[in-house]
Amino acid sequence: MDGLIQIRDTPVTGGGFRYRDLLEKRIVTRAGRCVGDFDLLADGDRVMVCCSGGKDSYALLDVLVWLRRRAPIDFSLVAVNLDQGYDGYDQKVVEAHLRTREAAGVEVQVLSRDFKTVLEAKLAPDATPCSLCSRLRRGVLYGLADELGATKIALGHHADDLIETLVLNLFFSGKLASMPPRLVSEDGRHVVIRPLAYNWEADLAAYAKNQGYPIVGCACPSCGLPDQKRQVVKRLLATLESESPGLKSQMLAALGNVKPEHLLDRKWAGVAPVLQAEEAVTAALGDLSARLLASPLLAKPERLQALDLGAKVSLSPRVGHPG
Ligand code: SF4
Repeated sequence: MDGLIQIRDTPVTGGGFRYRDLLEKRIVTRAGRCVGDFDLLADGDRVMVCCSGGKDSYALLDVLVWLRRRAPIDFSLVAVNLDQGYDGYDQKVVEAHLRTREAAGVEVQVLSRDFKTVLEAKLAPDATPCSLCSRLRRGVLYGLADELGATKIALGHHADDLIETLVLNLFFSGKLASMPPRLVSEDGRHVVIRPLAYNWEADLAAYAKNQGYPIVGCACPSCGLPDQKRQVVKRLLATLESESPGLKSQMLAALGNVKPEHLLDRKWAGVAPVLQAEEAVTAALGDLSARLLASPLLAKPERLQALDLGAKVSLSPRVGHPG
């Protein structure tokens, strides 16, 4: 198991608090391990928890409440819900549920935006809206994080989301990448955390059922359509898992056991610096040749010979192909 993500369900007392059942204990323990492995929380953090009304983000909020009770550090939680403006979205139900967590010290913020109108205005009717929708949502949430003074933005993505994203990127985007448990935004101003990265969706679904969460779908007409690439990948992985039990766990382990030098990315192969050096020498030689051509030396070949320009310049060979 060298290098694999080790997910063990060690006995946890709950620090004086009682777990509802073994499922809750497993979910909280795995989240705690993820928080520790990736240093997701720090003393004094103000964590903005994005709650869509789905099972995963409700579970995320409760897990963070659990961790806050047990953690040796002090951090605060603000549960945030964004109504994206899709017809039929019932924000009141989500807000009512979030407010039940105020007794546990959770602040609640709800806000509304009209993404539907923006998407209709900007996109062709048959265009896939998810990319623009995600950018709009990210912009609103980052802005709210600034207003709230949040130091972390917590999202409810789980282990299935991570491996599905890996396959989506591999099959459709030409890159090897997934969703990291901790991500600093490109401008360095926001830190996104995914404490549920070690938890499987099936556990979260069972937990949501046990907890009786009032699930509210996002009401977006594109959400969960069977021909969406993510849904296709989800079905593919489910089939492969049923044929080879443990396959998804191996995929998750692989995300924590990367051997970049065994791939084709020249950044990791040590080739790029060699190529850069080679290009620099070639450019220098070209410059030297140009100077010599323009030099009065050429008028006197015996002086050129004395410079011994016939000596070969030896460069490191480029990495060859296999076999
Ligand atoms: S499924 Fe709907 S809500 Fe989700 S990203 Fe796509 S457009 Fe947005």
